[in-house]
Amino acid sequence: FAREQVHNFAAGPSPLPTPVLEKAAVGLLNYNGTGMGVCELSHRSKEFKGIIEGAEANLRKLYGVPDNYSILFAQGGGTTQFASVMLNILAARRIQHKDDKEYAVPTIDYVVTGSWSSKAYAEAQRLALPPAPGAQPFAAPRIAATAKPSKFTTLPKQDEYDFSADAAYVYYCENETINGTEFPAADAPSEFSFPFDKVPAGVPVVADYSSSFVSRPIANFDKHAIIVAGAQKNLGPSGVTVVIVRNDLLVDTTEAMKLGNIPAVPIQSEYKTLADNGSLYNTPPTFPIYVSALVLEYLVAERDGMKGIEATNRAKAETLYAALDAAEAKGTVRCVVREKLARSWMNITFEIVGEGKEKAFLDGAEALGFRQLKGHRSVGGIRASLYNAVTLESVKALAEYISNF
Ligand code: PLP
Repeated sequence: FAREQVHNFAAGPSPLPTPVLEKAAVGLLNYNGTGMGVCELSHRSKEFKGIIEGAEANLRKLYGVPDNYSILFAQGGGTTQFASVMLNILAARRIQHKDDKEYAVPTIDYVVTGSWSSKAYAEAQRLALPPAPGAQPFAAPRIAATAKPSKFTTLPKQDEYDFSADAAYVYYCENETINGTEFPAADAPSEFSFPFDKVPAGVPVVADYSSSFVSRPIANFDKHAIIVAGAQKNLGPSGVTVVIVRNDLLVDTTEAMKLGNIPAVPIQSEYKTLADNGSLYNTPPTFPIYVSALVLEYLVAERDGMKGIEATNRAKAETLYAALDAAEAKGTVRCVVREKLARSWMNITFEIVGEGKEKAFLDGAEALGFRQLKGHRSVGGIRASLYNAVTLESVKALAEYISNF
């Protein structure tokens, strides 16, 4: 199972720990000596039940997920969750207000800090559209804060947030994969921290953690109502999305639809159905769940849990930003995110200064074994993603290349 050891900085799908992939390769052929590959096992088998329950238990352990939250393994990627969070929360709210004579159109507060929160906001606007011309819309999504004027190269400051008094929920993206901004770590609060204290009491907070999941402890875990994360960065292959949802949001969406004033909710998107069935309502993506389970096992056992992972990720980000800041002082590169306290640990975006220099940088990098450094097609430039499986040694090698370039 040997492979050439390259430095893979892909933004997603992303590198996974080699020992995990070696184990997964064996499991693909012959799971635990059963004579059946993991993709050939029924999702109702005791073997698969063991896999998915193990994944959940390790995730609970890593993050210390409180008992009043359910962990779901969903399909459809982070993009489907843009809709699912809205549909489930609107259903829960509709049931809460079932005795209201007139159901008021709820606002929804979006914090728009980059490409992914923009997409989530756009999806909410689409699903909020009235069921017929002239009818009442299902909701009124609005922007509670945005970093758009800076072209998403920083984050809003504390006084730039304007939350509604009674929003259905507040939505933010913890780490903007394309732009390279991330809300500051729990132990380093700053003017760019997410302002939980400004969110009116009782308003659920939803966070997209797709590209920073299991990279460091989650600040104020219990201040979130829902945390979603596509697996394909730090957790496993694409195809499975983790949803950690507070149990009061597991509601019967059919009951809510009968009350009216909410968009239709496909049964596949109903969190209660997923929770009631242990994420096995229909056939789940068994292989991505299997690999994710192996990654979680590895993180707990080999990486010393969340604290160990955090320490390595901090060192990686500090190493690369130090090299970039020094190179910027020499005039060879320019960091995209200007405010240091708003910079992502996971996705580090920069530009190479000078005509034709970017191609030279990428060609030289490729020759040295650095892979997948090209920035997202929508913004260009360079992006180095430092997910959990990227080693400090790989980052030091890249830092050296940047310093010498
Ligand atoms: N949210 C974030 C932060 C992402 O980085 C991505 C994808 O890269 C998505 C959402 C969308 O996820 P998916 O491609 O699984 O739909």
